[in-house]
Amino acid sequence: MSKLEARIKARITAEGPMSIAEYMAVCLLDPVDGYYPTRDPLGSDGDFITAPEISQMFGEVIGLWCIQSWIDLSRPPALNLIELGPGRGIMMSDILRTATLDPAFKKAISVTLIEASAALEAVQAKTLANTGISVNWASTLANAPDGPTLIIGNEFLDCLPIRQFIQKDPFAGNAGWHERLVTLDDDDCLSFGVAPIAISEQLQGDLPSAIDEARTDDLLEICPSARQIVDELSVRFSRHPCRALFIDYGPDATEFGDTLQALKRHEKVGVFSNPGNTDLTARVDFAALQGMASTVALPVTNATMQREFLSKLGIEMRAVALSKSSANPDARAKIARQLHRLMDSEEMGDLFKAICFQSIGLPLPLGFREVS
Ligand code: SAH
Repeated sequence: MSKLEARIKARITAEGPMSIAEYMAVCLLDPVDGYYPTRDPLGSDGDFITAPEISQMFGEVIGLWCIQSWIDLSRPPALNLIELGPGRGIMMSDILRTATLDPAFKKAISVTLIEASAALEAVQAKTLANTGISVNWASTLANAPDGPTLIIGNEFLDCLPIRQFIQKDPFAGNAGWHERLVTLDDDDCLSFGVAPIAISEQLQGDLPSAIDEARTDDLLEICPSARQIVDELSVRFSRHPCRALFIDYGPDATEFGDTLQALKRHEKVGVFSNPGNTDLTARVDFAALQGMASTVALPVTNATMQREFLSKLGIEMRAVALSKSSANPDARAKIARQLHRLMDSEEMGDLFKAICFQSIGLPLPLGFREVS
């Protein structure tokens, strides 16, 4: 049993069952034994791989998106470029290399990284040591510098803790939802349970509106930290022209079902199998994000499939140019494989989506369609 598992069990014994969000937060972020603070989880030797780790082309076209966004923000002479959950810093290094295409943009930016893991912060410092641009770290978005801002986050929202509710009495409407909890079974093993009483009236009021048709035992997920981020964006974005781009996996309409998953060495494992040593994520509910934005009157785009978004940013042309610059047929085949992984419907192309929040009055961001 991992040290963290023993601590979680002791806490449940002392204080009673915990929410899925508390379980996720302690497994992922506990400063001593949590998943992220104690390792570098990325890459082929790690537990999972992300788009910027698959190919430099991903960060490069996001770099172009950043340059166009700076133009859309009316070219502010000082621009905060903030990344949430930068992993190994690969995407930022590809963005900063692309930034040299527009020296005025490059001159304007200062980079702030928001990272929960000290281990990954050290890797980011190494990756970004020679970019010629100052890089700083902030503990939270609220502590990052104010002013015109671009925020980016790839596979950041999926690791934010979620709460799960189960509909026990559809006739009671929102008063029929009970929270799913982490508890101990008769053999003292971690297991799921359900709260005997319904969720609070305040929470009932906060649920997304598209869930009226829930049936008995339907499971709904919400992400309170995403709500907090959207609220913070709306305040920051009202002061200065800003944009935030998130790319992640999930549906564009709220769906019922348990999507919490644990990964170890690229394989799915049980969510209780090795607390603190597996990556825990849940699908991002893009419709819920849009709903959150509309309650605070924050302009938001449609959720756009990654393949459409990257294509509009010119990733195929970038792939051709990269291929041409390489005389090695193996390298050319590799570029084609990388493009396929990012773009194909059976790979990341459809499941992953991009969404953009922005200040009122800015033009439609590159890569998106007008909200229908
Ligand atoms: N964006 C990177 C890494 C994705 S993994 C890439 O695409 O490769 C998720 C990242 O978010 C990791 O860097 C992890 O340490 C960080 N993270 C997770 N929860 C966080 C939180 N609450 N605050 C800040 N960073 C967090």
